[in-house]
Amino acid sequence: MDNKMMLMIPGPTPVPEQVLLAMTKHPMGHRSGEFGQIMAEVTENLKWLHQTQNDVLILAASGTGAMEAGIINFLSAGDRVLVGNNGKFGERWGKVARAFGLDTQEIVAEWGKPLNPEDFKAALEADAEKQIKAVIITHSETSTGVLNDLEAINRHVKAHGQALIIVDAVTSLGASNVPVDELGLDVVASGSQKGYMIPPGLAFVSVSAKAWAAYETATLPKFYLDLMPYKKNAAKNSTPFTPPINLFFALQTALRMMKAEGLESIFARHDRHKRATRAAMRALNLPLYTADECGSPAITAVMPQQVDSEQIRSVMKKQYDVILAGGQDHLKGQIFRIGHLGFVCDRDILTAVAALEASLVALGYDQFTSGAGIAAASQVFKAG
Ligand SMILES: *Cc1c(COP(=O)(O)O)cnc(C)c1O
Repeated sequence: MDNKMMLMIPGPTPVPEQVLLAMTKHPMGHRSGEFGQIMAEVTENLKWLHQTQNDVLILAASGTGAMEAGIINFLSAGDRVLVGNNGKFGERWGKVARAFGLDTQEIVAEWGKPLNPEDFKAALEADAEKQIKAVIITHSETSTGVLNDLEAINRHVKAHGQALIIVDAVTSLGASNVPVDELGLDVVASGSQKGYMIPPGLAFVSVSAKAWAAYETATLPKFYLDLMPYKKNAAKNSTPFTPPINLFFALQTALRMMKAEGLESIFARHDRHKRATRAAMRALNLPLYTADECGSPAITAVMPQQVDSEQIRSVMKKQYDVILAGGQDHLKGQIFRIGHLGFVCDRDILTAVAALEASLVALGYDQFTSGAGIAAASQVFKAG
């Protein structure tokens, strides 16, 4: 049915009406005082969201643009880096690092399992000469729904002392606690179509003083994604190139909404949706792909056994207008993923679970009592 589509994927995520409406204006000149005011406000609010005094720079790019910027600004060809890889996005970090000629050592974990902080500890402790220039990881691994233990890995990076920590927080920022200053995260990449509740097109990078010091000696070629012009212009409430002005209108509105809700409430809501979704899947006897301890607050991956996950997605879409994500690479056809990231309320979870129950019935799956998923999610909501 037209205009009834409900996006339950991990990006693009649903966009609030206020945010959509904010975009329906003529673009203003980006060298105008009016735009400068917006730039000042969103920059301040981005720092609030990142819990940092560091620079948070805004790029016209998808999240991968922020990842690339996070590498080329602070490293040089041949630099030794450790890259965590336990899914599609960790794998992407490795691809970017190798594309720029970095000496890349991957710390691998099986898809669906978290990265083991001890592996980082061992590699960092073995580096007596302090050759490792950066540790690069994905916080919330969207392809599998695993939240990696950023704090523990970061602790080992800090014990090493030299290496930068570069983090893909694309599906954790605005969903779970990423206290940039408290943890001393050097580079944090994110993108607009995830926790920010705005359409695709903007990417964000926070940069610590230590990372800026590394910038001074980094020699990888860069131009559009050279972050120094972004920093210098941001100091004058401006941008080096023409920004996607209407996305800035969206960003301004979305950040105001986030501030009104408050960080603690935003994190609590995502955590509640994660728990409600997981409880519902258990009640439907649909196996969860990840353990409770490492479940991402942004997305839950499910690996059904007696019913085909692509058929579930198909009925969900055709009959109930609910869009779920499938599996990537070898998980294609093996899992489906329920996004609960960004502009998602308790009712959305109940709606998705109810539509899932109805889809399972339609597919002849009878390993559950009708209403069991809803009952389980309701109990989570009752407890808060
Ligand atoms: C979405 C996503 C990205 C960025 O993907 P783009 O398509 O370039 O926006 C990066 N990392 C993770 C974990 C993501 O979920």
